Amino acid sequence: MPTTVELIRHKREGGELSAADIAALVAGYTQGNIPDYQMAAFLMAAFLRGMTIAETRALTEAMLYSGEVVDFSHLPQAKVDKHSTGGVGDKTSLALAPIVAAAGVAVPMISGRGLGHTGGTLDKLEAIPGFRTDLPLDTFRRLVEQLGVALIGQTREIAPADKKLYALRDVTGTVESIPLITASIMSKKLAEGIDALVLDVKFGSGAFMKTPAEAQALADSLTATGEAMGKRVQALLTDMNQPLGWAVGNALEVCEAQQLLRGEQLTGRFADLTFGLAAHMLRLGQVAASVTEGQTLARAMVTSGKALEKWQAIIRAQGGDPRVAEDDRRLPQAAYETVVRAPQSGTVTAMDTEAIGRAAVLLGAGRLTLDAVIDPAVGFRMEVELGAPVSAGDELVRVYYNAAQAVPEVEQRLLAAITITPN
Ligand code: URA
Repeated sequence: MPTTVELIRHKREGGELSAADIAALVAGYTQGNIPDYQMAAFLMAAFLRGMTIAETRALTEAMLYSGEVVDFSHLPQAKVDKHSTGGVGDKTSLALAPIVAAAGVAVPMISGRGLGHTGGTLDKLEAIPGFRTDLPLDTFRRLVEQLGVALIGQTREIAPADKKLYALRDVTGTVESIPLITASIMSKKLAEGIDALVLDVKFGSGAFMKTPAEAQALADSLTATGEAMGKRVQALLTDMNQPLGWAVGNALEVCEAQQLLRGEQLTGRFADLTFGLAAHMLRLGQVAASVTEGQTLARAMVTSGKALEKWQAIIRAQGGDPRVAEDDRRLPQAAYETVVRAPQSGTVTAMDTEAIGRAAVLLGAGRLTLDAVIDPAVGFRMEVELGAPVSAGDELVRVYYNAAQAVPEVEQRLLAAITITPN
């Protein structure tokens, strides 16, 4: 067996490592037998030299089996999840999970928290009074068996190698590597016991990947790795050059997701993306023969009220107040609001979505460190979309806040983030 130094050198020179070499590195690091400095050197070599599909698959597998892999093979229905690479105002999981589960496909969803400029599904769910996401894996299994769906946070048992490696990548400049991102995402998703996965790979000013070409490269790597591990995978590339939908901020995003589930808002970019992703999940889950049939089925789950019923059942099962589903006023409400207005007339031609996300963090809707406390009530209502004509003085963004001190800077940042070009 080669030594750790030999493996680092081999990768440094652009060589390919065997699956056994990669398994030894991951196991050695997770068990504390390989120190941070050697793993950091290996990660930088992999970052600079890249990894083949075979290496990426081996890394994914080693990270996946560093922890527990949930087994749902005894359930008759297909198990399908969705993963998004992260956006601003992206609340699709909240609507998707009940829609897809109502149509008979199991959705075992393990999600993350918001970090940096993007929001996280767990923070949105926890805006619902009483809703628990810190459930143990046994409860997760039981809920998926009984309800066909559960939405929980990462547990210690799931891919512990990723937790340790991600923390190291974060401080060694090795996050933005397609093979390392692929193994990180897929090791966590495949631990959910899924048969298939729909990927929402974002590009644009609010995304990790700024161009469609970069997003496509990540989508290809994720798809190839998932398929190599025997899963059905479908990747969609979607636009994050503006926030998704009108709401940015946790309780506000729950409210927007519920408007969709109640059938009150069935058009627009958020509804289109949700039904698009749902359609692919239903096709991969083999309850729809085509994406078109999946769209029809997904919309029928909403118009029949079945998706809303499932949403109420999820909230109840996870300790929340199910009356929230029909009454948004039961969600946390900010004490104050103010309006950012267009300084001139023209057309909205660009949005710096990342800057809008960062302004929301500054207001208290997100966190810059993992242990920061967020305010579920605060956020933005986006009153304009790209391409909208505006007159000077028109509303651009409505800001909901509790603490006034951040507001002037938030307003300034929002104004700077929205480009209005005179006609
Ligand atoms: N999300 C992850 O889970 N891992 C990465 O490496 C990047 C984004």
